[in-house]
Amino acid sequence: MSSENPISQTNPRKRPITEVDKPTTVICTVVAIDHTNLHYRVCSVCEKTLPETPLNPNPTPTPTLNPSSSLPICRYCNFNNAFNPLSSGSKRLFRVLMSVATDTKVFVVVMFDRAAKVLFGCSADDFFDFAKIHPFAAVNAGKILEGEMLRVTLSKPKNGNAQHLRVASVVPLSSSFQPAIVSLRELYQVRGRS
Ligand SMILES: [Zn+2]
Repeated sequence: MSSENPISQTNPRKRPITEVDKPTTVICTVVAIDHTNLHYRVCSVCEKTLPETPLNPNPTPTPTLNPSSSLPICRYCNFNNAFNPLSSGSKRLFRVLMSVATDTKVFVVVMFDRAAKVLFGCSADDFFDFAKIHPFAAVNAGKILEGEMLRVTLSKPKNGNAQHLRVASVVPLSSSFQPAIVSLRELYQVRGRS
């Protein structure tokens, strides 16, 4: 079944998924989730990406940041709003790299805030706060979601240099599906009593 004959009309769905231009819907299973990097910080006004702050507990230096400032300040709002440069706050949005398997292949997709909320069941800020108290929440969320069967609509990234197909929408297919945060709360409630 390795025929790549492009003239064949018998099975047009064999076309490699990375060549589609229109959104495609596939049934897939979650193989793994990159739990090390589930969200990113944006300006709460314009939603442009902000650099991560040095408040991050891991000691990696961030040379792009102005060392005199520990607060992320949006350059765009700061620029456009010179009278009140500190007015822009920040928030987190999900950006989740997820490896999924269809019946023919395994590939990595990127899931942004709206889709990720379906699987996580909360906002990225809520998840971040939860994970601060429960350091393994992200790892466990990945484990909880592994094996979930999903119907995902994939679109080609608008940004031409993005490398992964983007999840435009996601529907969990299991009747017993519950969002990761629900399972996590159950998990930690049980464990916390011991
Ligand atoms: Zn901004």
